[in-house]
Amino acid sequence: MGKSMAEVKETKTKSQKARELKEKYDTLVAEAKQEQLEAITASIGELKELGFVYTLTEGNAAPAPKPSTTRVPKGQAKPKVAPTSPSSNYEAEKHCATCNIAGHDQRKHRTRKGAFTPQELAELGIQAPA
Ligand SMILES: [Zn+2]
Repeated sequence: MGKSMAEVKETKTKSQKARELKEKYDTLVAEAKQEQLEAITASIGELKELGFVYTLTEGNAAPAPKPSTTRVPKGQAKPKVAPTSPSSNYEAEKHCATCNIAGHDQRKHRTRKGAFTPQELAELGIQAPA
């Protein structure tokens, strides 16, 4: 133990000291923030006079929502054309090894793995014509 430490008379508990220091710290931070804000505001004002309009935004402010809902994913830009009949997209010259039937090819399976069900064939318009 250091001698000098023992000689210092403790009149306040450490938690009291800590609270006081915390209050001082909070006050100092608030004052420092105000000081910086004033400096920035003044600088922004000078920029404005030069023709550059800037706004100060606090970092914790909610960011602008991403426009992801309006973005079209790659490869799906073409609007889906609903088949007019269960066989309207049937292409007799094509043969699919996955489904082991004619009427479409592997390209139809880019988003669908495995063989199509008869219902899916009808929805895609690639059902064999009657
Ligand atoms: Zn197929």
